[in-house]
Amino acid sequence: MAEELCRLSLSEVSSLLARRRVSPVELTEAYLHRIAARDGDLNAYITVDEAGALAQAREAEARLARGEGGPLTGAPLALKDLLATHGLRTTCASRILENFVPPYDATVCARLRREGAVFLGKVNMDEFAMGSSTEHSAFGPTRNPWNRECIPGGSSGGSAAAVAADLCAAALGSDTGGSIRQPASHCGVVGLKPTYGRVSRFGLVAYASSLDQIGPLTKTVRDAALLLNAIAGHDPRDSTSLLAPAPDYLAALGRDLAGLKVGVPREYFGEGVDPDVEAAVKAALNTLAGLGADLVEVSLPHTAYAVAVYYVVAMAEASSNLARYDGVKYGFRGPAGNLREMYAQTRTRGFGEEVRRRIMLGTYTLSAGYYDAYYRKASQVRTLIRRDFEAAFQRCAVLAAPVAPTPAFRLEEKLDDPLTMYLSDIFTISVNLAGIPGISVPCGFSAAGLPIGLQILGPPLGEPQIFTVAHAFEQATDHHRRRPEF
Ligand code: GLN
Repeated sequence: MAEELCRLSLSEVSSLLARRRVSPVELTEAYLHRIAARDGDLNAYITVDEAGALAQAREAEARLARGEGGPLTGAPLALKDLLATHGLRTTCASRILENFVPPYDATVCARLRREGAVFLGKVNMDEFAMGSSTEHSAFGPTRNPWNRECIPGGSSGGSAAAVAADLCAAALGSDTGGSIRQPASHCGVVGLKPTYGRVSRFGLVAYASSLDQIGPLTKTVRDAALLLNAIAGHDPRDSTSLLAPAPDYLAALGRDLAGLKVGVPREYFGEGVDPDVEAAVKAALNTLAGLGADLVEVSLPHTAYAVAVYYVVAMAEASSNLARYDGVKYGFRGPAGNLREMYAQTRTRGFGEEVRRRIMLGTYTLSAGYYDAYYRKASQVRTLIRRDFEAAFQRCAVLAAPVAPTPAFRLEEKLDDPLTMYLSDIFTISVNLAGIPGISVPCGFSAAGLPIGLQILGPPLGEPQIFTVAHAFEQATDHHRRRPEF
């Protein structure tokens, strides 16, 4: 019974809770039990907050008993460990924040708390969200529930693995260059990166501020809409937060695709794309056509520059954002006899290798004399990438493409080769550079039985049409129903 409860989608859980067929405490206990029994094999959680979760569950129970509460009251969720949680340690998977306990909640956490959601704990990630495999974590790698020899994707690998393995009803992650969509694709779950500014970044530990967005990782498209409903909307505490009111995203589900134009970007197919991925995505395009959508070929001619532009912009912003970890204000402080030495010791011992690499490269590209050649040039090409999408969306409502060029790779396969690792983001990073929304929805499996995702992109604030297409596709297929034997 308890195991069965954990298998349910967020929407199913929500409906059982509302009808008082299951109590929040019973549900939370079922998840805590499953985490204690099974997470040793995956390492999805960095911190499990048993006492906090049960206290939230009891509160939710009281609310539901009074006939109050909303769709998320009593729903057990996992949070990527870069979202500040009041009183609960937030490590960013880094030694430097190992014992950091925030005195406040990120806006998304505060909103979910207000809704009565239950936080089971904080989940694993690449340190400071820098990576594509969740191997760059000071707390060890997370494993893929479909094949434990493989990575779950990254950087929100803990979120994706926890959802896929039924260790939470749904999770939040963050996406700077693909970190929600790519792990969602590799773990066979749904992951949405909203439009830049749609969800408040207040209390999200910053990686690259012009690219970061928080979003849901869930078992179904409906669940993603449900969770986005709770977290989207203006926040005066984030100056990049959009003023436009957030619609009811659930209203976008169940619409017809007849005559809807779906663009297929030429540059996202062909060389470098694994044949299983290409076949699954092409079959998905046929399914969309069968549902009445009109497929149109489009071109995003500046795609070839996306990886280079992204890694200049992201590293520059990261080097600036991470300057605050100096041993004075937060967490870890290296042993030293004087101030200079303290900075050096703190940052050398506190940060992992990938984070140090990025700080050095970012500092270099921002330094006097190089700024024009790198950061300014990258920003100019970024505008061209954004215009490619603007032109494409003149002709179609959404774009459909692969999420990642290959299914999940093996642990350690790319760990010593940062460039190859960076190339696994090739189909996701342009979306962040352009600030547009994108979703990954399960669309098939490789010959080795690993999940493959279909990416659906929309124009700014195009989440409703993304949900329409993703939901219609999901309802017409059953890839999302297949579960890992975990
Ligand atoms: N893999 C990309 C990077 O390492 C994207 C990470 C992310 O989206 N947070 O920067």
